[in-house]
Amino acid sequence: MFSNHSDFDPIFHCIKQHAALSDADGNFPTDEFKEIRQSELLSFPIKRSSMTFNSDNLINNLNLLKSLGRASLPVGRIFEGHMNALQLVNIYGTASQKKRWFEEVTSGQKLFGVWNTQDQDGVFAHERADGNFLLKGSKTFCSGGDQIQRPLITAELKSPSIKGWQMCIIPTEKVAAIKQDKSFWQPLGMRASASFRMDFTGIIISKEDFLGAPNDYYKQPHFSSGAIRFCSVQLGGAEAVLEETHHLLKSISRTEDPFQKSRIAEMSFLVETGNLWISQTAHKLESGQYGSEHIIAYINMARCMIEEICLRCMTLSERSVGARGLLRPGNLERIHRDLITYLRQPAPDASLVSIGDFVFKQPDTRKLWAVQMVSKLP
Ligand SMILES: Cc1cc2nc3c(=O)[nH]c(=O)nc-3n(C[C@H](O)[C@H](O)[C@H](O)COP(=O)(O)OP(=O)(O)OC[C@H]3O[C@@H](n4cnc5c(N)ncnc54)[C@H](O)[C@@H]3O)c2cc1C
Repeated sequence: MFSNHSDFDPIFHCIKQHAALSDADGNFPTDEFKEIRQSELLSFPIKRSSMTFNSDNLINNLNLLKSLGRASLPVGRIFEGHMNALQLVNIYGTASQKKRWFEEVTSGQKLFGVWNTQDQDGVFAHERADGNFLLKGSKTFCSGGDQIQRPLITAELKSPSIKGWQMCIIPTEKVAAIKQDKSFWQPLGMRASASFRMDFTGIIISKEDFLGAPNDYYKQPHFSSGAIRFCSVQLGGAEAVLEETHHLLKSISRTEDPFQKSRIAEMSFLVETGNLWISQTAHKLESGQYGSEHIIAYINMARCMIEEICLRCMTLSERSVGARGLLRPGNLERIHRDLITYLRQPAPDASLVSIGDFVFKQPDTRKLWAVQMVSKLP
């Protein structure tokens, strides 16, 4: 078992080597997750001494996501879902559920994921006479597809006694097979994220599989603060664009030109700006000194900034390497497609508007993002 993040460098290298081979419609990054399992990386977010989610050092978790994203955005995406699920278990699980699900990772190497997105035919959980629940409906964008052994899904309850949006963790080997529709996922990029449509119709689960109370999933600030995880993976993508551009320009001796110097300079300070946003956001989250609205607005700012940083880095890279630098089998062509696709995350307009809302609610802007001494977050 590795203890330091840098101990994983050979695994990141190996994932990077596999990324081009995995880039195909309908594919899952099997070899990459074999490596991840062998190195027990799936357990990295769990503190074994207490069998809790390791939230002591948030920046370590975020750096791990960034390194995975730099090696392969699809792998980073799938791992981010795993980490998200474990964090939700930590926040909302009972003591016995935490023990069960964390042990399934530490001893059983189970891969978790979070599938919330759905179309019109979304998932309902109908209560049956025996107290169990029958699922009907589908989820879309289910990263990892049938390679996820513990999908955490949300479902609307249909029961005379309880109502709301319920998180459930499906023990896939104990229930009927979840029907997988690969034809849903024919994207521009992120092909290997295997983000298929999954149909849960006919699956029966028990209340033991429920996580938390109805509507816990959308509780703030936890719901919005999760964006910092996908920002970290995305920033890993921008780092990969910088790295590939640097490598290519050096390999063709185009480093003395002042335009190339200024573009690589801008890419470098943009990536570093992204790192500062991630670490400052992590610091704010860990400090417990900021109210929920402040935290949500700040994370939304980080999200907007990381998106702009990634887009700008891609533009600068395109101008630097030219058309031939974007040819297959060069890595930049794939990383561009993956990053463009992965930057599309839920409600971008709403997250920008929420920052404006927060700013206008303040009496003035003098201490806008300064320390606010409020009671600690739950
Ligand atoms: C690679 C990848 C993997 C993913 N994996 C998962 C996963 O494992 N689990 C999961 O749950 N989800 C997953 N998702 C889905 C993701 O979380 C988002 O839900 C999805 O990317 C948003 O899709 P969209 O861009 O089409 O969004 P939309 O919500 O359709 O947004 C598109 C645009 O429309 C705007 N808009 C939104 N609503 C309105 C409105 N009512 N009126 C006017 N404009 C509006 C938005 O601000 C945005 O500008 C994944 C997505 C990607 C790309």
